[in-house]
Amino acid sequence: MFRFEPLPIWRNKDVRERLSWYHAVMRNKKPAKYLVCKSIACDIDLKNSSMEELWVEHNRLANIFKKECGSIKSSDSYDIEYRDKNFLDLKGEIANRILYKCNLCEWNCNVNRSEGKVGVCRLDKITRVASWFRHFGEEAPLSNIHGSGTIFFTGCMFRCAFCQNWSISQYPLAGEEVNGRKLALIMKELHDEGAHNINFVGGEPTPNIHTIIDGMRNLDVNIPMLWNSDMYASIDAMNLIKDIMDIWLPDFKYGNDNCARRLSNVPNYFAVVARNHKIAYENGDMIIRHLVLPNHFECCTKPVLEWISQNCPRALVNVMDQYYPDYRVAQHPEKYPDIARRLMGKEIEEAFQYAKKLGLVYEPVSR
Ligand code: SF4
Repeated sequence: MFRFEPLPIWRNKDVRERLSWYHAVMRNKKPAKYLVCKSIACDIDLKNSSMEELWVEHNRLANIFKKECGSIKSSDSYDIEYRDKNFLDLKGEIANRILYKCNLCEWNCNVNRSEGKVGVCRLDKITRVASWFRHFGEEAPLSNIHGSGTIFFTGCMFRCAFCQNWSISQYPLAGEEVNGRKLALIMKELHDEGAHNINFVGGEPTPNIHTIIDGMRNLDVNIPMLWNSDMYASIDAMNLIKDIMDIWLPDFKYGNDNCARRLSNVPNYFAVVARNHKIAYENGDMIIRHLVLPNHFECCTKPVLEWISQNCPRALVNVMDQYYPDYRVAQHPEKYPDIARRLMGKEIEEAFQYAKKLGLVYEPVSR
């Protein structure tokens, strides 16, 4: 399919440099990472090896993958030969086994989702998709011209009082059941329609990593994979996805654990989310989103932007100003007086000016 170059965003030098891998995959100049994983042979018996043995092999193959990606980056052409049993198959086996004692995110529920048990995300092993379409409202490098191939999974491990997607994030049954094959068909359809990327979002994609990997095993089109997440994944989950995502679109909401607990009912927020941002930053291109909340400049916006400038200085940042009271805040504004209104112009300006002062590159990615 002929693809138009999304202009003029790619004329911006900062955007081109900071999203160089994503841009190259989008233009079919480099292979998506999940395809590279398929070219790395796995040497162990997947069904008869222990979980420990699977992880040892995973770590060995992750090193080979890193070298392979380095050499693909520095050469003008690439040649991918798929292996019958490969790194992606190994990731799929590990992800499916994790479901027997789920620790895909930092809630670490340890429930057996394979037997129909559910944890905080309220999801058993079945993945449900609420909708999929080419989204034209994402950041310019992701959406421009043909749209971002967005797949909305149901369920979430957060309980954000202001969630704008609450009808799917808090209602896991509000979607169509998909397995890996069906998900691959959805991704292929989005690709064939001209989507610039496959955008895994929700709700939250993390509890569905097993199906996402299975979907990629059934897919062979070259398209960048994008992780659009609250970044509360466990280390194990991060290890599974860090080698298959070409670009990261993480949310960094709160600058401290008290606000996270009160507004999203999630513990140990800052340490987990900061750790995962660092892992993502070390492994790919990144646009970090920070939604400015009214009355949360000192406690959240400031520390989040400062942390990004110190730890992920090459990441693009989208300082988002579209907050409005929704879901529980709209139902019970008296319980959330600090965020029961829209942002004022001076609050938005204050956040933008602070990002600018820290040297963060944010304007080019705003819609
Ligand atoms: S994905 Fe997270 S919230 Fe859901 S069962 Fe697993 S550990 Fe619990």
